[in-house]
Amino acid sequence: MTAPGSAAIWTMPDFDEHERVEVIHDRASGLTAIIALHSTHLGPGAGGTRFWHYPQPLAAVRDALRLSRGMSYKNALAGLPLGGGKAVVLLDEQRSKTPGMLAAFGDAVEALAGAYVTAEDVGASVADMEAIHQRTEHVCGLPVAEGQAGGDPGPYTARGIFLGIKAAVAYRLGRADMDGVHVAVQGCGSVGGRVVRMLAGEGARVTLADIDQAKAEALAAELGGNCVPTDQIMQVPCDVFSPNALGAILDDASIPQLDCAIVAGGANNQLARAEHGGMLRERGILYAPDYVINAGGIINVGLEYLARRAGETCSVSTVIERIEGIGTTLAAIWDESERSGTGAHEVADRMARQAIGRGE
Ligand code: NAD
Repeated sequence: MTAPGSAAIWTMPDFDEHERVEVIHDRASGLTAIIALHSTHLGPGAGGTRFWHYPQPLAAVRDALRLSRGMSYKNALAGLPLGGGKAVVLLDEQRSKTPGMLAAFGDAVEALAGAYVTAEDVGASVADMEAIHQRTEHVCGLPVAEGQAGGDPGPYTARGIFLGIKAAVAYRLGRADMDGVHVAVQGCGSVGGRVVRMLAGEGARVTLADIDQAKAEALAAELGGNCVPTDQIMQVPCDVFSPNALGAILDDASIPQLDCAIVAGGANNQLARAEHGGMLRERGILYAPDYVINAGGIINVGLEYLARRAGETCSVSTVIERIEGIGTTLAAIWDESERSGTGAHEVADRMARQAIGRGE
């Protein structure tokens, strides 16, 4: 494939020996989509479908390449028998999504015969996944019966982050409990809001910020925490800064202003560039690599899919048991980071590459 208006796709900086990059165009429905399979070394390439308007189509190719590699790493370190894949559907400015497009996208996933397993991502809903499921079995994150794995990944992602924060507090502060530990939380949405409740439930002191100020204030009032404006949350003196909103927030400007011992939160792609992980280490801040700590959601829907394919069901308790492993994985990364003198993010990438058969 040749990237529009530029060189071949395999010369793009985000190309990382991807096994397959499919471009789908369905004239009847107007669907244009890209499915990137980074690695199927551990199993089918699993990762969500992003429905987005890309003013520059090349950015869609870049997203598919970058995000599918991220899923290879995330699934590998979550210990799932799943590889990494990602799809992007290119929408118009109105972000119009039609039943015909969803059906055509389902057919494209089905044509890959299980090499790619899709799920929700930005711009997608459970209803979209159900529509895609009309055309293919290779979908996860579908509604499930009470007590079974699957459905909304948010609560599971939040639980993994909460456990990851506790693991970081034990590792860096030598504390087995959260009583009085001060956590500054950026973003109080599906994930951040749940993390805050769990933290407060165990006696942590919380400082919150959200662009939806009323939401942050209501949560702080309910839990006895306090709020600061969004442009101040990263400078709050605290034990843990927990980013649960945007990516690329850890950069040259923000890292010197952090006043915390630990950065641990669920937002994807927190480091603006890889070297910012090194900057955190130089500042003596313990960093929980984002794709390791936020894997609870994919553990939930991944186990849902694998069980369904095997004609079985998977219980919520099995999912929770697996999510509890996130703290152990993080501790192994931090140990290796100490031993080798390299940033936790680099160690995580190295471990993930090893797991997908691409170690040095
Ligand atoms: P969400 O949309 O429910 O919540 C995001 C919250 O952040 C919202 O309340 C929003 O108002 C707030 N926000 C946006 N910009 C902000 C800013 N500049 N400062 C402070 N608050 C701001 O999303 P979510 O599902 O909770 O996901 C949060 C992050 O976690 C995202 O980066 C997402 O990619 C990542 N993540 C989510 C899951 C999941 O299962 N939902 C899984 C893995 C990673």
